[in-house]
Amino acid sequence: MPVKMTNKRPNVNNRRIINGEDADVVQLHPMKHSFAWDAYLAGNANHWLPTEIAMQDDIELWKSPRLSDDERLAFKTALGFFTTADSIAANNLVLAFYKHVTSPECRMYLLRQSFEEAIHTHAYQYIVESLGIDGGEVFNMYRENTAHNSKANFILGFNEGIFDDNFHTGTFENDQKFLENLCVFSLILEGIFFYSSFAVIFGFQRQNKLVGSAEQIQYIMRDESQHLNFGINMINAIKEEQPELWSDEFQKRITSLVKEAAKLEYNYAQQVFPKGIFGMNADGFKQYIEHIADRRLSAIGLPKQFNVKNPFPWMSEAVDLSKEKNFFETRVTEYQTGGTLNWE
Ligand code: FE
Repeated sequence: MPVKMTNKRPNVNNRRIINGEDADVVQLHPMKHSFAWDAYLAGNANHWLPTEIAMQDDIELWKSPRLSDDERLAFKTALGFFTTADSIAANNLVLAFYKHVTSPECRMYLLRQSFEEAIHTHAYQYIVESLGIDGGEVFNMYRENTAHNSKANFILGFNEGIFDDNFHTGTFENDQKFLENLCVFSLILEGIFFYSSFAVIFGFQRQNKLVGSAEQIQYIMRDESQHLNFGINMINAIKEEQPELWSDEFQKRITSLVKEAAKLEYNYAQQVFPKGIFGMNADGFKQYIEHIADRRLSAIGLPKQFNVKNPFPWMSEAVDLSKEKNFFETRVTEYQTGGTLNWE
């Protein structure tokens, strides 16, 4: 974590994601990791606030008998997971990640990303408040519900290393620890653990139910896709900058963590949606999560483990990372002028 200022201008060759030389200030020149700057600009262009979204229809529906008990429970459950996940993400960025990252342009994006995690928590609070749901129930699910708890514990188990005040990058072991943490937080937390809950919320939207809440979750998913994209770019950049870290043994470890996470996510979906919902059943969730897990592995150059088709093709229209780019290119202006968000 070099923070000493020198009188030499930075040399682009010494700029690295971790263990770089010029992290004394956010010195953007000469820029090396341009993906981070692009992500920062995309994040700004997609800026949104929960309170811009009307909740009147959701409020009326929530007070009416037109939602079943199962639907209400599924909605609260998904929300309960999101509240935990976004706080874990924010803590990781601010309390651990930021200080170890030495690329100034990556730090710029981490600042933007942290704010987005706060906006997401704001959205959950806005939804809970608007609908008159017991916020304590939603925000405490990670303590009280085993399915939530096991996912949260899996992630928090990786905090110990890089959260420790005495942890520094710069040794083979610690750099691998950092890279492992990045894989867990980006690929697994942001890239796998959100997705069955996203699917449930878009199930509501497809039925034209709770559309204000669902629209907020769409914005959140767009932000999370960008976070994931950035995480993947960081992983791939570290692989180039410090190829020795990407050993066979390390690749096996990451692959097995992703497989374990897919199982945890599948168990979660099965436990919290035992009867299925909106035509999505246990088998569908399992296959969907496996499909997503394979995509995450491929993105960092690891072999697919499941080779299954996407059983929820309508989700890929909304969350497919390759379409994400299209989305930014074609929709940004519309959002900036206050239009609503349509997924194609
Ligand atoms: Fe995130």
